[in-house]
Amino acid sequence: MALIVQKYGGTSVGSLALIHNVAAQVARVHARGDGIVVVASAMGDETDRLLDLARALIPHPEPRELDALLATGEQVSVALLAMVLCSMDIPARSYTGAQVRVRTSAVHGKARIEGIDTERLRADLQAGRVPVVAGFQGVSEHGDITTIGRGGSDTTAVALAVALKADECQILTDVDGVFTTDPRMVPQARCLARVSFEEMLELAGQGSKVLHLRAVEFARKYNMPLRVASAFRRGAGTLICEEESTVEAPVVSGIAFNRDEAEFSIFGLPDEPGTAYRLLKPVSDANIEVDMIVISASPQGRSDLSFTVHRDDYVQTKRIIEAILKGFPESTLEATDRVAKLSVVGVGMRSHAGVAARLFETMAREAINVRLVSTSEIKISLLVEEEKLERAVRALHTTYALSVQD
Ligand code: ADP
Ligand code: ASP
Ligand code: MG
Repeated sequence: MALIVQKYGGTSVGSLALIHNVAAQVARVHARGDGIVVVASAMGDETDRLLDLARALIPHPEPRELDALLATGEQVSVALLAMVLCSMDIPARSYTGAQVRVRTSAVHGKARIEGIDTERLRADLQAGRVPVVAGFQGVSEHGDITTIGRGGSDTTAVALAVALKADECQILTDVDGVFTTDPRMVPQARCLARVSFEEMLELAGQGSKVLHLRAVEFARKYNMPLRVASAFRRGAGTLICEEESTVEAPVVSGIAFNRDEAEFSIFGLPDEPGTAYRLLKPVSDANIEVDMIVISASPQGRSDLSFTVHRDDYVQTKRIIEAILKGFPESTLEATDRVAKLSVVGVGMRSHAGVAARLFETMAREAINVRLVSTSEIKISLLVEEEKLERAVRALHTTYALSVQD
């Protein structure tokens, strides 16, 4: 008997008819005699609706209270799903994160899962019941309801799979699997049969929201096989697992992109030790994460510094930098929040030269200016004007022959 954790996302439980569809799929696994634990997200756009509700009342709601509100979305979907299952004579029980003790840190809105008590779930499984657990939420040591970050139900599912030593964690969603890029932007994108943990970490980290980054980190750390597949259609989907050394890896496996970027460029800074520190330390002290950083020397003992932050942090970062630049009267600042980042990812890059050259050739042909570049062993990221992003992704998708017909 296998043990499977299945997670259904917001779109997959977006209506009562869809909840029936999910129940039918759970029933199939149950009928096979396998153990199954279900994790569900809130219905459709419910989390956005709750957020809007709070913000319409108060621009900056108390984080503890916001978590108490947002967690209700998942509580509704798990209760409805468990009811339907019971009506089909499948013994099911819904649980909030606090009930199954998904223990998290106390950082409201981005709490980290620290452990899960599996006793109650194991007892259910032993008795042939189907636990239906609310994703995205947990409980802090003070007994407060926490949430673990947008898209976090994936991480709840993987953490449960790891805690229960499940055979596989299945993320069932509104696409057939992990594609070479977001199929909503590039309809010719191809569904990948396998992706290594390492590549998936880069893709998720660089903006492919098909999987929550921490879910991939967890799965990789505990070597939990992760499968992304459709909640609506049968199919094997994409298996995310350890890299197979026997299979020759494609040079580029996929392209991720992220529109949530803002760029700061400061020209004519003194070219001396400590300048970047003076500028970036106050930014990090304000809990703002800096992503790409480029420092380049320019003539007459001057240097230029460019960096990116999340678009939500644009206004605050600009205020901080403008204040510091009062101490650098000869420098000038250019700032924009109309930029986007795309990242070309593939483990095959390690052993193939020329990936970057083809990338820049493509950008040249498309007349797209590359503003910043950063690389890792298996990734090259480019910052471009937001309005050019789509054209850049489509062109690179063709360059690296990623489409279905290529
Ligand atoms: P869920 O509600 O099931 O968690 P999400 O909206 O979080 O679903 O994730 C699925 C979406 O991720 C897809 O609808 C798709 O638009 C997007 N996506 C982005 N990049 C990719 C990719 N490389 N492969 C598949 N889907 C992707
Ligand atoms: N409902 C939460 C969100 O919208 C969690 C999730 O869907 O994974 O972010
Ligand atoms: Mg998601």
